[in-house]
Amino acid sequence: MQLKLLWDLQEIDLSIRALEQKIEEAPALSGVKELAEEFEALKRELSEKESLLKDNSKTLKSLEMRAQKIVDDRKELSDTMYGGTVSSIKELEQMQRKMELLAADKKKTEDDILILMESIEEQEGLLEKKVAELDKCKQELENKEATLAEDLDRFKSELASLKEARAKLVEKIETKYINKYNMLAEKHQGEALAKVEDDICGGCRVFISSAHRGHLYNPGAMVYCENCGRLLVRLDN
Ligand SMILES: [Zn+2]
Repeated sequence: MQLKLLWDLQEIDLSIRALEQKIEEAPALSGVKELAEEFEALKRELSEKESLLKDNSKTLKSLEMRAQKIVDDRKELSDTMYGGTVSSIKELEQMQRKMELLAADKKKTEDDILILMESIEEQEGLLEKKVAELDKCKQELENKEATLAEDLDRFKSELASLKEARAKLVEKIETKYINKYNMLAEKHQGEALAKVEDDICGGCRVFISSAHRGHLYNPGAMVYCENCGRLLVRLDN
């Protein structure tokens, strides 16, 4: 009877150990950390794209102002040229050249504006995609975090009931058995006891000699495997 209780204790302790390991490993296995890193990387990428777009928008604005200034300058120049106040041919020729330079500058500026506008449009498209990607990643991260939290809650409540069951069980077991169990458990990674199955030690799979086997029928005896030293239990159910 005591051995059976001790066996039950070992089963509970092994379950506790497995559960504690699960609790410890769950965060790493959940993939939350990797996804959180991915999320941060996406955020950085997004903010780089946003600041590039901002810079380009600023450049566009200044190009547009420059284009307007050229238009104004040309208008002013044209007014002067055709206003009848300038009579020197040389001066008029110089103005004409300046007019041509301004025209070339206008053309160049307008081309630059077009190129930049196209680039901005493309960047806005990419930015929109990044935002969607970030949203998706955020959602996934939240789901994964929620799943992890649920798993941990469940494991912890399982652990609490196992510990409760263990405490109740320990009360029923004599101290000398508990002491022996603790000593052997430490030596055999928690497996202090071994079931006897078909005359074989369930711990090390070595055959139990018939002379030794006889002691197993004495309910009060503590019989140890001659090979591995585990406490042997016969479970007849
Ligand atoms: Zn053994």
